[in-house]
Amino acid sequence: MILLLEDDPAIAQTVAFALQREGLAVEHHAWLADARRAWAQQPPRVAVLDIGLPDGSGLDWLRALRQAGDTTPVLLLSARSEELDKVLGLELGADDYLAKPFGVRELVARVRALLRRGAPTSPGLVVGSLDAHVQGRRLDLTRRELALLQALHAAQGRTLSREQLLDAAWGPGSESLDRTVDTHIKTLRAKLREAGLGDDAIRTHRGLGYALDR
Ligand code: CA
Repeated sequence: MILLLEDDPAIAQTVAFALQREGLAVEHHAWLADARRAWAQQPPRVAVLDIGLPDGSGLDWLRALRQAGDTTPVLLLSARSEELDKVLGLELGADDYLAKPFGVRELVARVRALLRRGAPTSPGLVVGSLDAHVQGRRLDLTRRELALLQALHAAQGRTLSREQLLDAAWGPGSESLDRTVDTHIKTLRAKLREAGLGDDAIRTHRGLGYALDR
């Protein structure tokens, strides 16, 4: 999930739309207090933070996060320019920044870069070529479930359509139905839940497909 903290509705809408179109789940907040609350519940994979917010400063929050040892990749959106860049990079621990106005494609590319370098998959989940483990314990998966999990894992958080998942787990041109994927995702989810991962370890994107949360 990408957390977007931006109080300008036009910018927020453009950014959220662009990221969602890439198959990324976006949680948008306009207030610092709301974003903090959401973060405490579940830290995002990447955060896109505006600096000037109605109830505080994105910079102050970033500083507090880093001081607390939080290493979540952060992209700052800044309305100011060069002078600030140095401060951010050197002192506050932002991973990247963009000065407004920016191109939305540029933003998507940078978020993607941060995702690639970001946190590991769902806590303790290790997906190998022969099996998968959560916190060192081997998951008892069927061949299809493992193939689905491997495909989702390889997609690094991108959403895969049912068709792509069918190809991956049943082979191209398979006669199986989309419903078959749903059924296997359901059992896979149950096994992940049993192993201690949340229900959102595999996210459903209605009408689009599934993605492995990271
Ligand atoms: Ca602002």
